[in-house]
Amino acid sequence: MTIIDTHVHLYDLPDPLAVLRQAADGGVTDVVALGVDLASNIKHLELRGRADGSVGIHLALGLHPGNITSREDTAACLRYIRENIGQAVAIGEAGLDFWYKWVRRDEVKKQEQREAFQGQLDLAAEFALPVVIHARGAWRESLEMTRASGIKKAVFHWYSGPLDVLQEILAAGFLVSVSPALEYSPDSRRTAEFVPLDRLLVETDTPVMVNGPDGTRVSSGPKDVWRTFKALCAIKKIAEPEALQTLNTNARAFFNFPVL
Ligand SMILES: [Zn+2]
Repeated sequence: MTIIDTHVHLYDLPDPLAVLRQAADGGVTDVVALGVDLASNIKHLELRGRADGSVGIHLALGLHPGNITSREDTAACLRYIRENIGQAVAIGEAGLDFWYKWVRRDEVKKQEQREAFQGQLDLAAEFALPVVIHARGAWRESLEMTRASGIKKAVFHWYSGPLDVLQEILAAGFLVSVSPALEYSPDSRRTAEFVPLDRLLVETDTPVMVNGPDGTRVSSGPKDVWRTFKALCAIKKIAEPEALQTLNTNARAFFNFPVL
């Protein structure tokens, strides 16, 4: 059995090639690596150039709402994404996060997030690319902006928001991804119960911390997508082989991977 991890960040790992080797040994065939700012987008491109090909590395170029520094930096990052758009299977990680302490009560910071997100939605629409969305504390607004942009493909990554917005996400034809938080988070588990399998993607958000074997928290790798997968199958009470086939098909179709 092989699997695809649809959401990883490799740029800050001390030894990303070792992590990718472990992933390949563990049956991970492909990862989607998402940038969060100019430097991380550049690092991912460079990393893909020197990887050995044992895992397919597909790039999403983006500017994360938590990484917005100034209008000038946003413009520079959007310019870089446009110039390298041919390297990308998706735009992201993009979105709105109004939960950050420094954003919560700051209308200017919220507006900067909206502008960066809109810029990325416009690029996705122009180049017909899917968008990977990070939304927190601004779920409805993220959905409304996405819908208004006219893009066809979006995934709401690690969705933990309200069910009424989730219902509208599905009605709009968009997807939702789930992470290893399925092992412990009631909000994530509720999302998994609610969303039909053919609208789901599995991911790790590597290197987000997960519970290690002895209960301590350890950095995740793409191989941990199996944990997401097994937790999902348990929650939805579905057979693993059948679920795996659907999830891999979902990922390939969403990111337009070459047909095998
Ligand atoms: Zn992420």
